[in-house]
Amino acid sequence: MWTWSRERTLSPTRPADAAALERAAEILRAGGLVAFPTETVYGLGANALDPAAIARIYAAKGRPATNPLIVHVADVDAARQLAASWPRAAELLASAFWPGPLTLVVPKSAQVPDAATAGLAAVGLRVPAHPVALALLRAVGLPLAAPSANRSTELSPVTARHVARSIAERVDLILDGGPTSVGIESTVVDLTGARPRILRPGAIGAEAIERVVGPLDPRPAPAAARGAQLAPGQSERHYAPRARLVLAAEGDGRTGVLARATRARGEAVGLVTFGADLGVEADVVARLPREPRAAAARLYATLHDLDDDGCALVVVETPPRDPAWDAVRDRLTRAATP
Ligand code: AMP
Ligand code: MG
Repeated sequence: MWTWSRERTLSPTRPADAAALERAAEILRAGGLVAFPTETVYGLGANALDPAAIARIYAAKGRPATNPLIVHVADVDAARQLAASWPRAAELLASAFWPGPLTLVVPKSAQVPDAATAGLAAVGLRVPAHPVALALLRAVGLPLAAPSANRSTELSPVTARHVARSIAERVDLILDGGPTSVGIESTVVDLTGARPRILRPGAIGAEAIERVVGPLDPRPAPAAARGAQLAPGQSERHYAPRARLVLAAEGDGRTGVLARATRARGEAVGLVTFGADLGVEADVVARLPREPRAAAARLYATLHDLDDDGCALVVVETPPRDPAWDAVRDRLTRAATP
């Protein structure tokens, strides 16, 4: 059984919507699953202190048990309560970026069940910058473990409709807060080492973080922290549309040939560019902004649309090498068919 506020999006300032938030809080307190909007993507939330509720998240998503969850809290004080220690870098980054799309990985307190962290001794914490997410966190009075509200490896949802299409029958309630604004997942920063280290590039760039805490540990994140599935033979494909996704640079003739062959079979081809001419004939063309944050905001919505259009192949222009494009490049590289 599930309901979804189909009529209109929720607003915590509308008195009638307080009832929906209270219903969501009741479901969460009883160990159920509620999908809710954040500024990044829609989350699939459960009581982070309840191992049985957390197990439901993994089951609903088909997520490997080795991939830890981000725990969402209403404010910095709530975050500190879940941390065994709260380094100075956490204090500085939280005051600079929270509420916002930055996840801080810190040593976990005994209160946080191992189930939430995939057995790791550290927990990822974040205060989301979305009025519905914050209203829900306050109404429930509990930390909420929440990965993206989609089946594992699929594209992340940026509207309530995307959530419903992916996992409607596996959640108890979906709160509709309209399309998300940031449109891409949070940056994850590990604060358990000698220097802060980015485990997953995201909405907040490395440069902005370095301005607050100084030089980051430049080593790339270990595969496990990137959520890679470690079983042999399993690919790292993640954040992927149903269509086959191929990255292409200008002057790369092979994708033009691939696109022609696909269309010759009667299958639709989608094309996503940041402005380059890839020499690909496509049935549907989407142009993303040349500015990385604006492109990130449109990225998943565009790929969802191309899936809706029935594209079998989606050719995407390889994003620029510039670090400002790290998050978009990361998601596209991992969505690409190996
Ligand atoms: P998702 O829930 O799909 O947005 O993925 C959350 C990601 O955050 C994981 O794949 C990890 O990269 C990272 N993460 C969350 N919690 C931790 C943690 N305790 N330690 C290391 N990385 C984490
Ligand atoms: Mg995800």
